[in-house]
Amino acid sequence: MQFTRLRLNGFKSFVDPTDLVIASGLTGVVGPNGCGKSNLLEALRWVMGETRPSAMRGGGMEDVIFAGASTRPARNFAEVILTIDNSERLAPASFNQTDFVEISRRITRDAGSAYKANSKDVRARDVQMLFADASTGSTSPALVRQGQISELINAKPKSRRRILEEAAGISGLYQRRHEAELK
Ligand code: ATP
Ligand code: MG
Repeated sequence: MQFTRLRLNGFKSFVDPTDLVIASGLTGVVGPNGCGKSNLLEALRWVMGETRPSAMRGGGMEDVIFAGASTRPARNFAEVILTIDNSERLAPASFNQTDFVEISRRITRDAGSAYKANSKDVRARDVQMLFADASTGSTSPALVRQGQISELINAKPKSRRRILEEAAGISGLYQRRHEAELK
C-alpha cells in the first residue's frame, strides 16, 4: 500500500492547510525540535483510525485540534486526508473503483469524528479494517514511537504476538473473530 499524499488542516500545530506529496522511495522529515515532525506521524496514525488519545500524546481526542497560539485563535475542527495509490486495485471491493483511494477523518469540537472514503461517509471500523488487511494501520509495527523499542523488549508474550499478527496482516481477521464472538 503506497501512501502518496497527506493533507492536514487544523491538526495540532498544522493550523494552516498543509499538503505533503509522498514520493515513492525513502522520505525523510527533518526540522528543529518542536516543528511538528512527530505530529505528522500522529496525523498518519489518526487518519487510519487511532482511537487512543494517549497514542496522540493527548488527554482527549479533541486535543488534536489546533489549540491556539498567542497570535492565532484555536480552531473548531481538524482534518487529515490520506491518499493511497490503488492502481493495483488492492483495496477492498467497496473502495476499489478508482486509481486512488482518499481517506479523510475530521473531528469537530463536541461532535466527534467523521470518516470518508472517496467522499462517501464510512464507519471508523471500515477505515481501520482497510488498513489492518493491508498490514498497516494506527497500531502498525511500521510506526515506531519514541520509547517503543524498550516497551517491546519489556512486553509480555501476548503483546509481542499482537505485533507479529499485525506484521502478518491477520489482525483484521482477529478483529472480525472477536466481533463474531461478541454476537
Ligand atoms: P522533536 O524534534 O523534539 O521530536 P517534533 O518536530 O517531533 O520535535 P512535535 O512534537 O511534532 O515536534 O511538535 C510539537 C509542537 O506541536 C509543540 O510546539 C506543540 O505546542 C505543538 N502542538 C501539539 N498539539 C497542538 C495543538 N493541539 N495545537 C497547537 N499546537 C500543538
Ligand atoms: Mg518528535
